Amino acid sequence: MRDVGKEDVSMAFGVVYQDAEALRTAITGRVSGYASSTKAELAGLLAAIMASPRDTPTTIRIDNLAVVSQFKTLVQGRQDCTERQRLRSPYSAWWAAVYNAYSHQGKKVNVEWVKGHASSQGNIAADNAATLGHNSGLWELKDSEHNDIKCHARLKDETVEDDLRRVLKRQSAVRINAQWSEQNRTKENISNWKAIDWRATLHIIHNGNSPRGLFTSPADCKKRAHRIKKLHGMLPTLSYMKQWRPDLYPTDTCRTCQEEQEDTRHLWNCFNTMEKQLEGWTDAIAATNRDGKRAHAKAHKQWLKAAKEARELGRPAPNQKEPTFTPQKEDIIWTVLKARIKGLTGICRDGNNGEDWFDRLGEEEPEKQWKWKTQDFYQGLTPKSFTEEWKTIFKTTATIARYMVGRFVNAIEEFGRTEIWNKRCKVTIEWERENGITSMSKRVRGRNCIGNHRPSRSVSIGSTFRQRPVMGVKDIRPEADDRIVRSYLGQLNLDAMERLDSIKFLMIEDRG
Ligand SMILES: [Zn+2]
Repeated sequence: MRDVGKEDVSMAFGVVYQDAEALRTAITGRVSGYASSTKAELAGLLAAIMASPRDTPTTIRIDNLAVVSQFKTLVQGRQDCTERQRLRSPYSAWWAAVYNAYSHQGKKVNVEWVKGHASSQGNIAADNAATLGHNSGLWELKDSEHNDIKCHARLKDETVEDDLRRVLKRQSAVRINAQWSEQNRTKENISNWKAIDWRATLHIIHNGNSPRGLFTSPADCKKRAHRIKKLHGMLPTLSYMKQWRPDLYPTDTCRTCQEEQEDTRHLWNCFNTMEKQLEGWTDAIAATNRDGKRAHAKAHKQWLKAAKEARELGRPAPNQKEPTFTPQKEDIIWTVLKARIKGLTGICRDGNNGEDWFDRLGEEEPEKQWKWKTQDFYQGLTPKSFTEEWKTIFKTTATIARYMVGRFVNAIEEFGRTEIWNKRCKVTIEWERENGITSMSKRVRGRNCIGNHRPSRSVSIGSTFRQRPVMGVKDIRPEADDRIVRSYLGQLNLDAMERLDSIKFLMIEDRG
């Protein structure tokens, strides 16, 4: 493949054949468009069939198993194919062209699989031919001259070559994500959604139960609702309640410290909770070494098992590195976190922002590294960058580091929910009871504004809570579609949030 990531991505193929004396190159060529080697293999197959002598039994060898097995279904068995198989296979137009060539040849072609990149003469010759192919002509299918599939879908001036239904599903996921990321409340409460490890974060939000699973329980739903609200800064804090029901809430002063206005920011920064917060972070940091050791033990066992299996089967050992892990001193973990997370030094009240460690990492000015707030962790947001950093700190693999970060954020979220939010609710409900605010009186009494309450939340709630996007849908959609096309062209990787159409499970690994 050549020029991956550039505007004109292209892939080359080469067809070689054996005559009485030597291997000779029959055809070389290249195809443009989607960054998948399958298309080049298919064009190569098409070229090989076209170059085969008519009505003569011929064997074509390809190193792509998927192409070989699809040839059997979509070409040799095309008469028995369902319409759905014919139309919804990736590169269906190319398969139709292959079938066309196959019929013209006399249906005497057979396709066999050979091991890819093997040191066989044929493979080497084909690879060399493909290298030459990068300089040869571009192969294209003309939609209008097709005699099998008459309609060809296009997306942003690119022919859709993948299964159309899959493309549409992906388009919905990417568009929905784009709209969500442009909402006021998302922008306000999630500073950079692209910096977040969403698989780990969704795992936390869904309590480890994938949304497609069949497990449901009231407790599970309640936690999920709480976390989704928390993620978007929509917890019913007193300032929120006062805006919504000024008739019931004369004040929005925090009931825990009785000093400041209680909004989302104050919730996680209330002075009276600092000691408790220090406990929570201390526990979570103490747990990191334990989690790391456990994950390492498990990974190491799997690694040994894989190596043993390979030995018994007489195969070469899997080229996976032996997993490692080194426990790190807790004060060093503190130091790194304090320099990364705004507000953590405040919790400790010791002013040490750990320059020593950053000298050792070869970095400077820890303050400038602040991308995260303690609130992000209480919201369950898992920073992507932490995986890479913890890999260095604990001298371990990316998988183990990622697991550790996930566990850590999970612990902080759990602590914030039970020890800060739940405690705050207890105090606040007591105060409400003293002031005659009951769940009955909080109920919305229609839209007629009796009792001076607002007809609906959206009238009184500030822009922060609004789900309305900052940009119009008309501006968001073309950008989202552009991302899909570019992902197919290999110019960008879609985020986990944009690939929710294809995520089968959210579990990174068993966190039990
Ligand atoms: Zn307070």
